[in-house]
Amino acid sequence: MTHDEESLLRRAIELAAAARADGNPPFGSLLAGHDGAILAEERNTSLTDRDITAHPELKLARWAARELDPAAAATTTMYTSCQPCGMCAGAIARSGLGRVVYALSGEQLDGLKPPGTAFVNPPSEGPALYAEARVPVEGYYR
Ligand SMILES: [Zn+2]
Repeated sequence: MTHDEESLLRRAIELAAAARADGNPPFGSLLAGHDGAILAEERNTSLTDRDITAHPELKLARWAARELDPAAAATTTMYTSCQPCGMCAGAIARSGLGRVVYALSGEQLDGLKPPGTAFVNPPSEGPALYAEARVPVEGYYR
């Protein structure tokens, strides 16, 4: 990682501290162009917005998908204070960002939390009703 990249990652950590100071979970992220210029910054606002999806990585992925054409999105790098969660990782993949650089890993984050605070996926069932469920999908993807 270059010195300039470390500076961008430190800015993401500053945004995480600002999120905490605002009463939100401590996570921050930014999106940089191919030249390292900051295109957009976000911080977690999930508590003040009462929105469980208000993670900075998801907000930046949505911004990039809306504001950048696919070729431009592919040249960007997201710098984020923590490894994106599963929800955000899915949005990042769909938005076509070029790269992600994170500070804390998900495992390191878990080590900083009290035991028993991890999110748990509910039981799920499926597949089911294939013949019916395939009808609206068939032929859509070309
Ligand atoms: Zn997330």
